[in-house]
Formats: sequence, structure tokens, C-alpha cells
Amino acid sequence: MYDVRSMRADDFIDDSEIRDTLAYAQENKGNRELIKSIIEKAGECKGLSHREASLLLACEDEELNGEIYSLAKKIKQRIYGNRIVFFAPLYLSNYCINSCVYCPYHVKNKHICRKKLTQDEVREETIALQDMGHKRLALESGEDPVNNPLEYILECIKTIYSIKHKNGEIRRVNVNIAATTVENYKRLKDAGIGTYILFQETYNRKNYEELHPAGPKHDYAYHTEAMDRAMQGGIDDVGLGVLFGLDTYAYELCGLLMHAEHLEAVFGVGPHTISVPRICPADDIDVNEFSNAVPDEVWQKIVAIIRIAVPYTGMIVSTRESEKNRKAALELGISQISGGSSTSVGGYAHQEAPEDNTAQFDRSDTRTLDEVSDWLIRMGYIPSFCTACYREGRTGDRFMPLAKSGAIQNCCQPNALMTLKEYLMDYASPETREHGEKLIEKELENIPNEKVKRITIENLHKIEQGERDFRF
Ligand code: SF4
Ligand code: SF4
Repeated sequence: MYDVRSMRADDFIDDSEIRDTLAYAQENKGNRELIKSIIEKAGECKGLSHREASLLLACEDEELNGEIYSLAKKIKQRIYGNRIVFFAPLYLSNYCINSCVYCPYHVKNKHICRKKLTQDEVREETIALQDMGHKRLALESGEDPVNNPLEYILECIKTIYSIKHKNGEIRRVNVNIAATTVENYKRLKDAGIGTYILFQETYNRKNYEELHPAGPKHDYAYHTEAMDRAMQGGIDDVGLGVLFGLDTYAYELCGLLMHAEHLEAVFGVGPHTISVPRICPADDIDVNEFSNAVPDEVWQKIVAIIRIAVPYTGMIVSTRESEKNRKAALELGISQISGGSSTSVGGYAHQEAPEDNTAQFDRSDTRTLDEVSDWLIRMGYIPSFCTACYREGRTGDRFMPLAKSGAIQNCCQPNALMTLKEYLMDYASPETREHGEKLIEKELENIPNEKVKRITIENLHKIEQGERDFRF
């Protein structure tokens, strides 16, 4: 029985509620007046229910869909402005005892090379990432209590935060590891993690159980209730996502929004981020075996609808997506991207020989961080390496009101300019630096508060003199 406040996965992601919602969306998809009223409501920037969002997703009217896209762009601009935050995934270990059929790290894959970074190798990877200019990481690891116990992950986090190479430092470590206990989430919190990220993969219980035939991840309820335990453990920034393509996209979007509504109803804090990965080719994985593959235009509409349904959430896209798709998604709602990523264990410090392939998926966007930065700048976006909120204690219920009102922009914009300046001074190619300096000059004019503008200008000068790490 559907109950948004229940702590049982089958209640807050109730299958009948999703099916009723999808039926409602099909019945009403020709009701222009109703759809128009939902778009109008979304324009107030207060979000939409899973029912309203599902109806917009089902809408086939070109004109109304055009209105949905324009609104998504408007909301994106209002809340996030034109800064795009960078992060990089860091793969610690691909040992895994689970059997996810869409992932090459599944336990039965005997020909993929298995690897786990030693602390020396973590150090090498961190330095390689710092030398690119990264400040924010997302740690990735398979689930294996023998090879990658929580103690190992905690040790890696400690190592990463301890390394200061030249002007480089990792200022925020987000973590994407298997569902665990409240006690373990507390330990992750104490280790200073930023966001805890866990993709649901699919919200359809039956499908979920088939796609995860063995291993601890088979337990749908334990996995689906993980964010509740993370919140109970004190982690108030959590990141949701599904792997689009495993079930129908309409089912997944509805489940995802119900999950966000549940977190907000129970903890007063919705998801800090939502990721929108799609199934993509990898070792031992043939995408053609997944009949629910999501076409580009539908994927872009999903991005737009999440943007208007959950305006306060950061939205993330990885290098799974091509340059072309990333460009479209940036306009429609994405606020965080990865750049220059390696999806292999140890792939930043050392190029892998093909026979030692440890990659989790094939990247579509293989450009360097510098190339992606310059690309963003040329499109008028501000590449940002900001990690200020977490370090200023603006997390969870201290962050949400600022994101909901759009007031966070007053911090994002100057922080983006100052962290971009650091990047230009320390890591950028001459061409990117030239373009970036011009962008900073121009964007300084767009800081509305005179005091903030003055402090930003002073800090930019200090960065030129060699000082680092300013933030609002
Ligand atoms: Fe293991 Fe995660 Fe891959 Fe599943 S998706 S096989 S849990 S690494
Ligand atoms: Fe993100 Fe906060 Fe920095 Fe804005 S100020 S970019 S929300 S960390």
C-alpha cells in the first residue's frame, strides 16, 4: 500500500502506485489544459509530484513539449546559473561478489582483470587527478567484504584527503559503494565524505531481482532503503539515480521521483543529486540484450522533466554520454559533469594494456579535462571546481532552503569564478587560459551584490599572487 512516509521500500516505491500513475499519464496525455496547468505550476519552481511529472513525460504534443524544454532551461538558469561543477570518478577496486547482469564487474566475469589499488597506487591516482586540476572525486568500488571492506574504503579516503601535491588538493570525496548499515554510514560520515551516491539501477522489484540474481545486492528492500539508513547515519547529502534501460523509462522516472518524495517527507531533505546514466557497452555486456534502451531524445526529455520536477537537486551526467548529448543535457538541467575520466582501476596514473582492461564501461566522451573546460567556456558556461558548501557545513537541511530559493547562486557564481581562476593558473593550456580569463572578466559584471563582487575581485588578485582556496 503506497505510503510516502513508510520506511518499507515496497510502500514508498509501491508498484501499484507506479502502475496507476502510468495509466493516469496515458489516459490524460491528450488533455492539453491539464498539461498546461502542470507546466504553469512547475514555473513556480516548487517542483512537481511523480504523477504530474509522469504526465508531462507521456505528453506527445510538440508545442507543449517545447514549453517543457524552455521551462527546464529557465529553471536551470534561475537556480544554477551557468556554472558547471566538475568531478572525476576514482575506481578503487573492481572485485565484486554481486552478479549485476549489466556490469562487467559481475562475479561470473572471469576474463576481466581484477584489481584493487594499494595505498601507494591511491596516492599515484590522486596526484594524477590533482595534476589535471580536479578537486572533487566520486569513489567507486565493487562490493567485496574480503577484498574491499569498509576499512579499506576509509583508508583510501584518508589517503586521498592527506595528499597535497603542488597547489593540488582533493577537497570533497563523494562515495559510491554498496548499500550498508547505519553504523557503517556513520563511519563514512566521520571520514568526511561529501555525498553518498547509490544508484537504484531499477525500481521494478521483479526486474531488479532478475537482474541481480545472486549476492547481497539481490536484496531489493535492503538496497532501496539504503538512503534512509545513510540519513540515519548522519549523511544528509545523498545522490539518487537509476540505470535507464533496465526497465521502461516511464516506470523508472516515476520510481525515482517517488524516492525523492519519500526522502523529503521523512527527513525533510530530498536528494542532493540525481544522476541519469543509461546502459552502455562494456566488457561482457551487450546493450542489445536490453530491450528498454532509451533513445537520445527521450533521455533529454527525462533530464528536462527531472529539472522541473525536482528543481533543487543537482543533476549529474558522466562521460558515458557523447559530447553532443552532454551539450543538450547541459542546457536542459545538468549542473555537474565529469571530465577527462578514467573508468578503470588505476587508469589515471597508468595507461592500461588492452589485456589488462578493468574498465566498468566504455566512455563516449574521451576528451581531456582541459578540452572539456575550454568547450564549456566557449559555450558560455563557467567550469567550476567549487566544493564550498560541504566545507562550510552547508549540507542537508542547511543547503536545501538555499537551493530551493535559488539563493545558492550568490555563492555558486563567485566560487565558480575563483576556482576557475585557480584552474587557469595551475593547470590550463594557454588557449583555455586565454578564453577563461575573458570569461571571468565578463562574468564578474554579472555578480549582483557589490560587496561580493569586490571580495571576488580581491581574491582573484590574491590567486594570481599564489594564494589558494577562497570561498563564499
Ligand atoms: Fe558489482 Fe556494482 Fe558492478 Fe553490480 S554494478 S557487479 S555491485 S560493481
Ligand atoms: Fe556547489 Fe555549493 Fe559550490 Fe554552489 S556553492 S557550486 S552548490 S558547492
